[in-house]
Amino acid sequence: MVDAYRPKTLAEALKIRNETDCLPIAGGTDLMVQKARGTGLGPGFEKPLLFVGHLPELHRIEKKEGYIHIGPAVLLSELLHNPLISDTFKKAVALMASPPSRNLATLGGNICNASPAGDTLPFLYAADAELLLENHEFERRIAIEDFITGPKQTDLKPDELLTDIIIPDINFPVTYYKKVGQRRGMSLTKASFHGLADVLDGYVEDLRMAFGSVAPTVVRSRDIENSLIGESVNSLKNRYQEILELYEPLIQPIDDARSSAMYRKNVCFNILKDFLNYLEKNQGDII
Ligand SMILES: Cc1cc2nc3c(=O)[nH]c(=O)nc-3n(C[C@H](O)[C@H](O)[C@H](O)COP(=O)(O)OP(=O)(O)OC[C@H]3O[C@@H](n4cnc5c(N)ncnc54)[C@H](O)[C@@H]3O)c2cc1C
Repeated sequence: MVDAYRPKTLAEALKIRNETDCLPIAGGTDLMVQKARGTGLGPGFEKPLLFVGHLPELHRIEKKEGYIHIGPAVLLSELLHNPLISDTFKKAVALMASPPSRNLATLGGNICNASPAGDTLPFLYAADAELLLENHEFERRIAIEDFITGPKQTDLKPDELLTDIIIPDINFPVTYYKKVGQRRGMSLTKASFHGLADVLDGYVEDLRMAFGSVAPTVVRSRDIENSLIGESVNSLKNRYQEILELYEPLIQPIDDARSSAMYRKNVCFNILKDFLNYLEKNQGDII
């Protein structure tokens, strides 16, 4: 048996979080698997649970002053049906888990679980998403890449909750998403990529490239991206080998039950090549 709290408001949840060493739980789809103990046994939670998935303050999608604000308790299935969510983000969400899981799993849970294979993460990194973290007294805003510090590791303090996911409301004319898994539905990611770009008269104005599942955290290099801004899309395509070498030291996948490191690395570089070709062919198309 484990104690559980089901507060009515966010303020109440933050008070409990301040006074108790507890574990936030939203949809539970990650936690129930991580804490599973086998057939016939309940999950082995060592700490009291703090249910947050039902809190109304954490359950909204709204547009405000150039940003889309998404409450962390918003379900993956709700993201798919909301007109404020970009089609390219929906593409990544649509390939996650199964419909029943998407009706339980939350966006905040995917972020706080901090898996290198978390499927919402490459888009959030590429889009410059920020997170609002609150304790009972203060709030702080932090870039997602500073929040996720390693596989399953975050900068979340023991008295904090994630309370908002803030995404600049920018429409990228060129968007590209690829997830490679064992099969199309219900498969965990072996390698993934989210590319966003703005191209004017054949020249790159803005370029974002984020790789999932090929390093301890999502890989995005602003330095490499900045070095390519201003280039023509033709020359980018032809400089594929050079760009690949820039990413080489950053793409450090592991061998695991799903794939070998070498396979992941090859897949990742093939996706990059495909994106650069795509960029040249679809300079103004939205997919
Ligand atoms: C069968 C199956 C298939 C799956 N397929 C995929 C897939 O294809 N792609 C993918 O990315 N994931 C997949 N997952 C993993 C999981 O469904 C997602 O990561 C999901 O988004 C987790 O959300 P949740 O609400 O269930 O998280 P929970 O399990 O409730 O929590 C996950 C973590 O987040 C923390 N947390 C949750 N909310 C907050 C908050 N507001 N503040 C602070 N901490 C918080 C929890 O303490 C915990 O550490 C799959 C899981 C299962 C069981």
